[in-house]
Amino acid sequence: MFVDKATITVKAGKGGDGCVSFHREKYVAAGGPDGGDGGRGGDIILRTDNNMSTLMDFRYKRKYQAGDGANGASKRFFGKDGQDLIIKVPVGTVVRDPETGTIIKDMSDGEPFVLAKGGRGGWGNKHFATPTRQVPRFAKPGLPGESRQVILELKLLADVGLVGFPNVGKSTLLAAASNARPKIANYHFTTLFPNLGVVYAQEGASFVMADIPGIIEGASEGAGLGHDFLRHIDRCRLLVHMVDVSGCEGRDPVEDFKAINAELAGYSRELSTRPQIVVGNKGDIAYDREAPDALKALAEDMGYEYMEISAATGDNVRALIMKIYEKLTKLPPITVYEADYVAPLPTGGKAEDVRIEVDDDTYILSGGWLEHLVASTNFGDHESLMHFDKQLRESGIFKRLEEMGIKDGDTVSIYNLEFEYLH
Ligand code: GDP
Ligand code: MG
Repeated sequence: MFVDKATITVKAGKGGDGCVSFHREKYVAAGGPDGGDGGRGGDIILRTDNNMSTLMDFRYKRKYQAGDGANGASKRFFGKDGQDLIIKVPVGTVVRDPETGTIIKDMSDGEPFVLAKGGRGGWGNKHFATPTRQVPRFAKPGLPGESRQVILELKLLADVGLVGFPNVGKSTLLAAASNARPKIANYHFTTLFPNLGVVYAQEGASFVMADIPGIIEGASEGAGLGHDFLRHIDRCRLLVHMVDVSGCEGRDPVEDFKAINAELAGYSRELSTRPQIVVGNKGDIAYDREAPDALKALAEDMGYEYMEISAATGDNVRALIMKIYEKLTKLPPITVYEADYVAPLPTGGKAEDVRIEVDDDTYILSGGWLEHLVASTNFGDHESLMHFDKQLRESGIFKRLEEMGIKDGDTVSIYNLEFEYLH
């Protein structure tokens, strides 16, 4: 079974809580605060694996969770960081946001990608000692890890895509030209998933060719299997359009050629303008010259190069490989999709849903929507900070603090952030 699309849910680890503790030693008067920090929550990281060629692994396992950070402890002991979780995906996997369909990341460059960030650990009370506050009786809880649902979609990375009706000899050509060993059989629809092969053109020069399952008429409208597979040629720089010119199945090469082109156009206009080399196959048993000649004339009329080969006997296969290679050197590289996903800004909520504790003149805010707001605010970025500030104001939290008696100069403490209150 070939699986090339999957929806998964990932959850990064929660940060560990900071600890409240005071230094105690025999014969030493009560010491300062020594509560350690909580550990960072583990990230969810995507990494490509060259040995994977499908998203089969995601068919049954759909939920992924990284490790939580451990809580801090007394004597300034840090909590251990949570374990990152590495999820392996095939090269060419495109990660999308399910709601907008936008691209979060194209896993084509071989670089690992952090899909969900672990929460920061909370600070222990040792951080909160100041000249005026020598006995901080509070520490900070860890922040939640990011969690999200994403669609994984495999879009093969191949320079060349073989297209054509079933049984025209695509798999035979791939096997003859490359290291791939696809199944070859004399019946329609033998290929149920794409095969990739590396084709060596000459010393140090190679390209990747993909044999995708035969496209049948109506594939672009979703009839039959072909439609799903068309996405695998989305990225191909060049299409090798194979047509059976032997006439042995009673088919008309010109009609077949037109039908496949119509399917490509039905899938996307862009695909129909992709460069093609038209290949008449089964030349070894093409006794009637009229049909191949008509195909050649039409192909050349449309501006495509035409070549006749026999994938089975190897006739002209080498020449075709060189022609493909030369053509590729003039074409732009494989498309890598730009990410166009824009993370929505975190929203605040109502003041009542936030927990407020008071320690002398420090007001400690935590819980509810504030967790998520803080976790997704980048405090080094002005715009992000302004958004954070706006959410706080709009929630009515300052009004609530005033009702509780906050005065100018008191401290507002939100997770690992502290600021002086000014009316
Ligand atoms: P695909 O469905 O396009 O992948 O076609 P296959 O590669 O599986 O080939 C279908 C059948 O055509 C097999 O029986 C092949 O042996 C046969 N075949 C492929 N190429 C040639 C060729 O050049 N000449 C002849 N006579 N038969 C071929
Ligand atoms: Mg095949």
